[in-house]
Parts: sequence; C-alpha cells; structure tokens
Amino acid sequence: MATIFSKIVNGQIPAYKIAEDDRYYAFLDINPLAEGHTLVIPKQEVDYLFDIDDDTLAGLTLFSKRVAKAIARAIPCKRVGVAVLGLEVPHAHIHLVPLNRESDIDFHKPKLQLTQERFVEIASAIAQEFK
Ligand code: 5GP
Repeated sequence: MATIFSKIVNGQIPAYKIAEDDRYYAFLDINPLAEGHTLVIPKQEVDYLFDIDDDTLAGLTLFSKRVAKAIARAIPCKRVGVAVLGLEVPHAHIHLVPLNRESDIDFHKPKLQLTQERFVEIASAIAQEFK
C-alpha cells in the first residue's frame, strides 16, 4: 500500500509543493514548527533514511541542499536546520526548518496554525527561489 507521502507525490492527497524532479519531492510540513518547515522525500518508498541506497541518498542530500537554499532566500532566518525523525510516517524524509534560535526546532512545542492562504504564500515564495 502506498505511503501517505507517495499519495502526495501522486496527487491523491493535496500538499503545498515546493519542488520536484524525477526522483525527489519537497513540500511544506502540514504541522510546521516554523513558517517554511519543509519535508524532502525520495519518490522511492523506503521507510528508514539510512536504508536508502547510496546513490539515492546522495541525490536526496543534494536536492535538500537546493531546497534549503531556497528556504533561506525566501524566509528570514539564521540557518536552515535539518532533522530526521521518521517516527510517524514510514517513508524516509528530511525536515528542513528555518531557524533563528535553537527552540525553533523543538519538536515538542505546539505547531503553528497557518491558514491555507498562508501555506500557499509560503510555498510559492520558496518555490520561486528554487534553482
Ligand atoms: P516524523 O515521521 O518525521 O516523525 O513526522 C512526520 C512529519 O510529517 C510530521 O512533522 C507531520 O506533521 C508531517 N505529516 C504527516 N502527515 C502529513 C501530510 O499528510 N501532509 C504533510 N504535508 N505533512 C504531513
């Protein structure tokens, strides 16, 4: 059965898309820690990040780098933080979170409640900066 993230890639579930190519896909986390909190996934369904084959993992890292650069251009922040948890969704993904302070990447804190319009604005601003 397809993972929830594969359903996003296939358009069966809506998402605020940032970028994609033939192997990778980036979209806003629906429960963001900060505005611009993005998930980057391989289209290939692998549960655990470090079970991904070397070539795909290297490509995922490079694709995430391009997404992180786009986030940094679109969202005022000191750094783009990187986290891998994978405790909820069994489809490997990298969290990219704009940071101004360490607590911005505290997964225990209450998530932002954003309107659909704001999600669209943020996704569009980051997507425009993706190169
Ligand atoms: P993790 O597996 O890294 O522990 O957490 C999964 C992450 O995926 C969470 O931050 C959660 O908000 C996000 N997430 C779960 N389901 C969806 C979804 O359907 N759409 C989007 N955009 N994000 C999701």
